Amino acid sequence: MFGRKRSSAQEELERGRWKCGKCDVEHGWPFDLAVDAPDPWPHAREHEPNSALRLDGDFLSDDFCVLEGKYFLVRAVLTIPVIGVSGDFGFGCWGTLSRENFEKYAAGFDTGNYADMGPWTGWLCNQLEGFTPGPDPIAVWVQPRHDRMRPMLWVRDDDHPLAMAQENGISPERMLELFRAYGHGPA
Ligand SMILES: [Zn+2]
Repeated sequence: MFGRKRSSAQEELERGRWKCGKCDVEHGWPFDLAVDAPDPWPHAREHEPNSALRLDGDFLSDDFCVLEGKYFLVRAVLTIPVIGVSGDFGFGCWGTLSRENFEKYAAGFDTGNYADMGPWTGWLCNQLEGFTPGPDPIAVWVQPRHDRMRPMLWVRDDDHPLAMAQENGISPERMLELFRAYGHGPA
């Protein structure tokens, strides 16, 4: 007789590789979606070197962003587990920090040793299709990590759809739907 039927989405993810409809290459699981600037960034998404960091005006590099000398953001990762599949989905995105915590993060960035390990409070400044109902920033915890790994973001409001996804995981079908929404699903 037949065993428990596994969903084709689960198998598609667990096989680990799929041909992308957009990039013309194979993607592998776990696969991250990353945005190279916060949504409010008003200029071309050209990255300066991290070492050129300035705290006045507008600045964007791989890991740091400053807007109007007033808003300080760091490149972070927000993870969502996928039910029945090992490995988490990672959304590479941008979160704000207070100037004080941003300076702590920048000072410890090269060594991975920070004056404190937080968690710090911030705002997620990128939308994720299907999980963020509007463009408003979402309150998050920003958890710095050692060894030059990017900080983790955790949505603070337990009732937010993104917090529930982080807590409970999402189905493999929903995962593939999200990849498709960004054009990186299986062809
Ligand atoms: Zn792709």
